[in-house]
Amino acid sequence: MGNARNLAFWVVLFVLVISLFNLFGNGAGTQQSNEKSYSEFVQAVDAGAVAEARLDGEQLFYRGSDNRTYVTIVPADAEVTNMLVDKGVPLTAEAQEQSGLATFLVGLLPFLLLIGVWIYFMNRMQGGGKGGAMGFGKSRAKLLTEKQGRVTFDDVAGIDEAKEELEEIVEFLRNPQKFSRLGGKIPKGALLVGPPGTGKTLLARAIAGEAGVPFFTISGSDFVEMFVGVGASRVRDMFEQAKKNAPCILFIDEIDAVGRARGAGYGGGNDEREQTLNQLLVEMDGFEANEGIIIVAATNRRDVLDPALLRPGRFDRQVTVPNPDIKGREKILGVHARKVPLGPDVDLRIIARGTPGFSGADLANLVNEAALMAARVGRRFVAMLDFEQAKDKVMMGAERRSMVMTDAQKEMTAYHEAGHAVVGITLPKCDPVYKATIIPRGGALGMVMSLPEMDRLNMFRDECHQRLAMTMAGKAAEVLKYGEDAVSNGPSGDIQQASQLSRAMIMRWGMSDKVGNIDYAEAHEGYSGNTAGFSVSTQTKELIEEEVKAFIEQGYEEAKRILTEKKDEWERLAQGLLEYETLTGAEIKKVMAGEPLGRDDDGDADVPPASGNSVTAIPKTKPRKPKAPDMEPEAT
Ligand code: ADP
Ligand code: MG
Ligand code: ZN
Repeated sequence: MGNARNLAFWVVLFVLVISLFNLFGNGAGTQQSNEKSYSEFVQAVDAGAVAEARLDGEQLFYRGSDNRTYVTIVPADAEVTNMLVDKGVPLTAEAQEQSGLATFLVGLLPFLLLIGVWIYFMNRMQGGGKGGAMGFGKSRAKLLTEKQGRVTFDDVAGIDEAKEELEEIVEFLRNPQKFSRLGGKIPKGALLVGPPGTGKTLLARAIAGEAGVPFFTISGSDFVEMFVGVGASRVRDMFEQAKKNAPCILFIDEIDAVGRARGAGYGGGNDEREQTLNQLLVEMDGFEANEGIIIVAATNRRDVLDPALLRPGRFDRQVTVPNPDIKGREKILGVHARKVPLGPDVDLRIIARGTPGFSGADLANLVNEAALMAARVGRRFVAMLDFEQAKDKVMMGAERRSMVMTDAQKEMTAYHEAGHAVVGITLPKCDPVYKATIIPRGGALGMVMSLPEMDRLNMFRDECHQRLAMTMAGKAAEVLKYGEDAVSNGPSGDIQQASQLSRAMIMRWGMSDKVGNIDYAEAHEGYSGNTAGFSVSTQTKELIEEEVKAFIEQGYEEAKRILTEKKDEWERLAQGLLEYETLTGAEIKKVMAGEPLGRDDDGDADVPPASGNSVTAIPKTKPRKPKAPDMEPEAT
């Protein structure tokens, strides 16, 4: 398309140049020919020396007997026509208007050329993209139709919660009256948030396949243009298109490209991006919730999004699309294995168990690699061996992209997180633990989540101490299980949190009897900020540091004590996490008590224990790599 336009452009330019030459060619030729006075011309006519003549306005061109062309100006009252006809000289006359038009065109040509060149360069700067020269400000939203290979919800597996939320949205579009009848507002937008490769784009395409309404898709980067105003008008155009086609879905993939927080740009803000974002916000406010347009956007960088985008009335729904747990991985493998012939020994459950931290995309890749492996050795089906080899291959590649854990890492993470959870549950003032997981996400290898039962207005001293113990429990667990020397840098995130809390307790909240009720944080800020600082003596500084250390140490010892005392519960929980990877608060308590979980899809009977199956028995060649500093597990 871009090429065709380019070609057309060059053809037009070529034609223009040629006609320019023709015009000037004519004119130039006559200019150079000899100019004669009118009387000389009359004499020549009389002498029969004029072979032919052409009248062009008041100019008269004629060919003399010497075959050269002459020009003369005809006086207004001269009866040149009659004279020439009398003498039998062939005469042609040019229409006056045409001459005018020609001059007009000639005058216009330089401008046309300039415009042409300008358009050409605009086109080039845009990368000659689909929009083309005339496509400024046209949205690039594509209408996704079933021709592109229909994707349905069946093709998306392992992210059931996200799927359910979106199924509800599809229901809104199919039957808006049903929901708005009772005065409920249909959500305007849903934001899919999750790490790369978890199936966000896939999910959006599945909505398109299921909803039975037009589905426009555009990528955030399509709005980002070099020219101020282009992105904004694209947004406007996109919403106009959507309104014409309502009910419909508008999918903005990778919305962080346009939705980054304003004013956070490099070099003092990026006008174009801000304008585009503003326009997007305006348009999102500008249509009614019941108009039948639903905006779905996807991002893996929620943290960089402008807060305005997340305000109610815009993306009302936020759907988290996490990396799949063991069950989810098995289902995703199932979806992709549908397309390849499997050998009788293949057990997807075992493969799922051996691939912690794999994203959906990694798993799709795994099945594909396994099929290639099988094809290479000329097998007619994909065997377990192929999957095992493919796994190693994908893990090597995936290590850079997503967080894929070795079995050793997985086990250590399980004991670490189980440590947090057991201490958190044991200590009465800690917030209730509602979830523990060893699925890596957001830079953490695993986490234990706890939520206060009520909004927390203030923190009490005993609470703070217990929280310190819970935070330090990860390290305590690693030390108890593997010994002082084998501790990884995994707990560094915990240590950071513990230090922050402990400092706040001592320097701001006056919770240390030795240091007393003085806000030393202000003294610290005083050095750089505008608050009047006061100086702190070296002695006091030492005292503060000592107390910070003592508080953390106290928590650490408390955690160790609890874990030693509750060794069996802790052990059971760690094994439970290895088995299920994610446990809810209620499940955690059951596992700790040694009760069966009673998940319907348990199936423990046919699965060998984690350490004994064929996948995990493969010797690991990779040593435990030190993790990047931003990859520590989190405490709470
Ligand atoms: P994202 O947009 O979240 O980065 P994609 O939707 O582009 O991820 O996923 C890439 C590919 O990985 C998909 O085309 C699909 O083949 C596979 N995939 C990812 N997640 C899933 C899933 N939950 N179920 C099935 N396949 C998946
Ligand atoms: Mg995507
Ligand atoms: Zn931790």
